[in-house]
Amino acid sequence: MTTECLFCRIAAGEAPADVLFEDRDVVAFHDIRPVAPTHVLVIPRKHITSLATSEPDDREILGKVMLGVHRTAHLLDLVEPGFRTIVNSGRGAGQTVFHLHVHVMSGRAWTWP
Ligand code: 5GP
Ligand code: ZN
Repeated sequence: MTTECLFCRIAAGEAPADVLFEDRDVVAFHDIRPVAPTHVLVIPRKHITSLATSEPDDREILGKVMLGVHRTAHLLDLVEPGFRTIVNSGRGAGQTVFHLHVHVMSGRAWTWP
């Protein structure tokens, strides 16, 4: 546990968050500054800084985070409208919280790229 990490504190219940669900390995909560009508963050309880620092031993937890995205999509009925997932890795890509998180966003139009 990295106690100075905001998302570790949320995962531990030491910082407030609007939690959608949690299990042994994963926590999903609503983003405090949503950029879409639905904007959820799915995180591992384990402190992993980003995809760039994840390791082969993290394969199981990374899979569980992705299944957390699946669970989020079904819980919030996002399958039919569709949803966008983003993982920012590194400051240059827009990462501001250095605990791995998957953004799950829905309810608005998107452009690509
Ligand atoms: P990043 O920019 O690192 O990809 O995404 C970090 C996200 O965390 C941002 O969308 C930001 O709004 C969200 N965030 C930052 N602080 C908090 C907080 O204290 N609570 C919640 N629920 N979300 C936060
Ligand atoms: Zn952390």
